[in-house]
Amino acid sequence: MSRHATSVPKNHRFFNAIPHPVWMLAIVLACFSSGTVSSQPFPSPWTDAALEQRIDAYLNMRDREAARAELDAILSAVETANAPTTYVRAWTTQAVSIAQDGDVEGAIQVIQDLMEYAERHAYPDVWVEVLANKVALLTWQGETARALVVAEQLSEYLEDAVDHRVRYYGNVVVTGLFRSNSQYERALSHALAAQEALSHTNNERTATRRISLQQQITFIYSDLRNYPAALEVSERALREALENDYLGLAASLLLARGYLFSQMDQHEDAIEVHRQAIDLAEQAGEIGIVLVSRNNIGSAYIHLERYEEAHTELTEALALAKEVGDEETADLLRYNLGYIQVMQGDIEAGIAEVEFYATRLQARYSAAEYAELLEHTATLYEHAGMYQEQAQALLEQRRLREEVFQAEREKSISEMQVRFEAREQAQQIELLEQRNALQERVIENAALQRQIFILFGVVVVFGLIIMIMLYRMARRANLRLKVVNKQLEFHSMRDPLTHLLNRRALQEQMQKRNPAEKADRRVKLGEHPDALILLDIDFFKRINDNFGHAAGDEVLKELSQRLQGLARSSDLVVRWGGEEFLIVLRNSDSKVLPSIVSRILDAIAEQPVHFEGRAIPVTATAGFVTLPFAGVPEEEVNWERALQIADMALYIGKVHGRNQAYGIMGLKVPFEQVQPLLETDLAKAIEEDMVEYTVLHGPKVN
Ligand code: GH3
Ligand code: MG
Ligand code: MG
Repeated sequence: MSRHATSVPKNHRFFNAIPHPVWMLAIVLACFSSGTVSSQPFPSPWTDAALEQRIDAYLNMRDREAARAELDAILSAVETANAPTTYVRAWTTQAVSIAQDGDVEGAIQVIQDLMEYAERHAYPDVWVEVLANKVALLTWQGETARALVVAEQLSEYLEDAVDHRVRYYGNVVVTGLFRSNSQYERALSHALAAQEALSHTNNERTATRRISLQQQITFIYSDLRNYPAALEVSERALREALENDYLGLAASLLLARGYLFSQMDQHEDAIEVHRQAIDLAEQAGEIGIVLVSRNNIGSAYIHLERYEEAHTELTEALALAKEVGDEETADLLRYNLGYIQVMQGDIEAGIAEVEFYATRLQARYSAAEYAELLEHTATLYEHAGMYQEQAQALLEQRRLREEVFQAEREKSISEMQVRFEAREQAQQIELLEQRNALQERVIENAALQRQIFILFGVVVVFGLIIMIMLYRMARRANLRLKVVNKQLEFHSMRDPLTHLLNRRALQEQMQKRNPAEKADRRVKLGEHPDALILLDIDFFKRINDNFGHAAGDEVLKELSQRLQGLARSSDLVVRWGGEEFLIVLRNSDSKVLPSIVSRILDAIAEQPVHFEGRAIPVTATAGFVTLPFAGVPEEEVNWERALQIADMALYIGKVHGRNQAYGIMGLKVPFEQVQPLLETDLAKAIEEDMVEYTVLHGPKVN
């Protein structure tokens, strides 16, 4: 029975009795005090030692107004100090100060601004300072889930933090959060890390910090049911608290040790330790500790079945609880008193008391705490033989525990989720960073590609320009070549002095005469034959002799122009020899041919050629024939032969006095008959009246 007779809940109550927000405030204030842990042996690269000292001093200031002014001065000094960690510490101190004044939103805003600052000064110490304060404030606000996310980030930065104060502070903050979140193992490792950081510091507050931290570690060991370890740590802490005369701290440590002894079923020791706790708590004015310790002593007596002593202890405690208005402890004390009543035989009244106060405590307790209480209530029902009620109480207890278990499970699932999300967030950040790096590479590549394209473009443009230039040069060269070719062609076909066609040109032209055309002409040539007029300037040697060779040249040029002036575009004017010209008329009318020749003679002789102020009289003699000659097909008398006849006619003109033209216009006898004479002696053929001929005289020249 005695196993059930403990009124253990109060001990359990004690550890969780302080609601988190208040507890967190205690931690924030502890961090505040963490500021006093600043005297590290070597300065961190991101701190300003003088300002750090001023912040330490500020934290120890009691005069609120003076402290306010000093903090303002520190805040303006950190602006120019170029020490990011100190800067952040000053501003988080400001945030805490704002929060203490009740403006939690304002404090959060300051922390938010500091996050941006931390982005810009990405040192681990800066991050720890900012994130730790964020965790503290979020927890304070009851935003545990968000606080846990930030704590995950914080614990990563903590590994790289340099400054001992910063490391201590960050670890203390996560210790508190993880413990309140039942992550005892993690809480313990951070608490030990905080202790390690603390060991590098030494000033007047170090002892207080160390004791508080050891108390925390004691609680965590207790949470982990490692009571011997908890006892060991708490013993060290107690010794140091007593050495330093920290009575309140020593009292709470003794209370914790009393609880630990109860848990280990060492009830006599528990009672003794609790008595010491009461003694010190009374000296320190810690009434809460006195009340809980007395309740725990009562509990120990019940455990030992020393009901009378238990009753006395609890009754006295109840009076004190009523006196100080601690209703919750009062209810617990009454419940325990009812318990004693039942155990002592006053079952009905005792059960009524227990039931009444159990109901009241139910309203104050969490489900887990109340479930524990129900266990004791069920024990009492059993003791009273109220088996139905016992069963009901046990069923209710089971229901509550399942509920708690369910809630715990959900909580742990959501915690896992939070932790998972935090890890995922970290992964996302890493991914984003990788993606950014990749993006940068892509951009770099794009820039490189652009450069290559531009370069390529430049090369192409230059290439194009060069190609166009080369093309133009080639085209110009081609054109020049064409011109030169044309000139060459011109010169090869023309006489250089008179620019008339030369013999070669005539030969080409005559060969070009289409044979079909020739055949066609045979029919109609009776009316429109071609004509050959050969001219030779009279006494040209004399012109040369009398006026000079240049004058002779001038005469040749001048006459050439006159002849060309007379010719149609289809006619050919050729310089046949030195001072001989040949005119080929195309499709001429044989009836008008003599008049054309007359006009030629006139054109030559009517006007003298002027050269260097002198008039040079010129005449010429001509011989002319039609082609085909006198209706004879060209197969019989080709153009060369016809020209020979014209030449002979010209000769006759010379012989007969010059400045005249002889035209052989037709045959009076068959061609075969006259043919031999035509080739050798035209004069004789004329004499024997075998040919029709005409004589034209040039104009009279003076
Ligand atoms: P004709 O024909 O009336 O019997 O007498 P001609 O003085 O014209 O005699 P011929 O035909 O024998 O002489 C031609 C002269 O023309 C010979 C040569 O010196 C001259 N001659 C030939 N070619 C040129 C030339 O290009 N320029 C000059 N100035 N004289 C030339
Ligand atoms: Mg001649
Ligand atoms: Mg002559």
